Amino acid sequence: MASKRALITGITGQDGSYMAEFLLEKGYQVIGMIRRSSTINFERIHHIQERLTLVQGDLLDQASLIDILSVHRPHEVYNLAAQSFVQTSWNQPVFTGEVTGLGVTRLLDAIRLIDSDIRFYQASSSEMFGKVREVPQTEVTSFYPRSPYGVAKVYGHWITVNYRESYGLFAVSGICFNHESPRRGQEFVTRKIARAAAMIKLGKEKELRLGNLESQRDWGFAPDYVRGMWLMLQQDKPDDFVMATGRTHSVGRFVELAFEMVGLDYRPYVVQDPQFMRPADVDLLDDHVNQRLVVLALLLTILSAVTLVMWRYHRRDYASPRRTGRRI
Ligand code: NDP
Ligand code: GDP
Repeated sequence: MASKRALITGITGQDGSYMAEFLLEKGYQVIGMIRRSSTINFERIHHIQERLTLVQGDLLDQASLIDILSVHRPHEVYNLAAQSFVQTSWNQPVFTGEVTGLGVTRLLDAIRLIDSDIRFYQASSSEMFGKVREVPQTEVTSFYPRSPYGVAKVYGHWITVNYRESYGLFAVSGICFNHESPRRGQEFVTRKIARAAAMIKLGKEKELRLGNLESQRDWGFAPDYVRGMWLMLQQDKPDDFVMATGRTHSVGRFVELAFEMVGLDYRPYVVQDPQFMRPADVDLLDDHVNQRLVVLALLLTILSAVTLVMWRYHRRDYASPRRTGRRI
């Protein structure tokens, strides 16, 4: 049988790069959508670049999406592209709405026009729960987003449900809690902490400036999550799924763990800085482990292992000359 084709938007991002590796292993032909930029930012996909078909397109430009779908005819589309940083969404709320919200409609409508048999995955977010209405949160918990990013994701979620119900598309919304890795964007808190712990241990930095240390998150490991996303598209019927580890920790606890791993007490190094506090933050994001995904035997890595992987990466990266093409 000819191999399946999958289109990944956001392939240069954390999840897109892991998804590309995962699908290549499964024998898929992988088409990655990249947006034009003046510099190349293939750091996360450098090691697999030759095995990918990279095409230019943008969630802001519907014609590019239609063109990609009609030329490459994917069986599955993973929409992992977004303006994904919550803090930035207060500075660029309209742009965030255009990409993270309306971008989903552009892609769904392109699918409707070109091939309504395509299976579609939308990267929805636990940020949609925001000021939580119930604990734990499930697929039917109502949303109360607390940032322009969260609001845009709620739009993306409901338009996915709407295209499923209006046009019978196999459109799935995966409501994922935070997931981290050495490939996480540098501005996200786990990456920032793991990096700083390594730098301070190596004597290259003196302090770590953070915002709200009380804030709590359910942090998982990104490679586990991309497997879950793929499983969602292999079900008999399209649906919505919450994906989480079911374990919540504070930012302060993550700091403590990361510094413990390098043999340091975090207290002399951590400074609270109002610059990193948010106009509004989400409540305690807690959840249950999704029963359907448990049945699918999803393996979720524990937080200390995630911290360890991230710290090891930074120790190697900053202690030795910078490498390219690394695979972690
Ligand atoms: P990243 O920020 O690492 O990656 C985002 C990707 O989107 C990048 O490849 C970026 O391209 C691309 N992109 C941004 N704007 C556009 C655009 N206008 N057109 C095309 N591509 C664009 O995010 P993650 O990998 O961490 O997350 C993947 C998805 O999952 C996102 O939608 C995110 O909101 C969502 N999500 C993530 C969670 C997490 O914990 N990681 C939790 C829940 C949801 P470029 O490299 O050019 O900037
Ligand atoms: P988010 O859950 O998608 O917003 O992921 P982040 O990693 O950006 O933030 C997780 C939590 O860490 C939020 O509650 C932030 O308020 C908190 N936090 C505390 N200090 C910082 C910081 O310096 N940077 C970031 N990004 N978040 C911080």
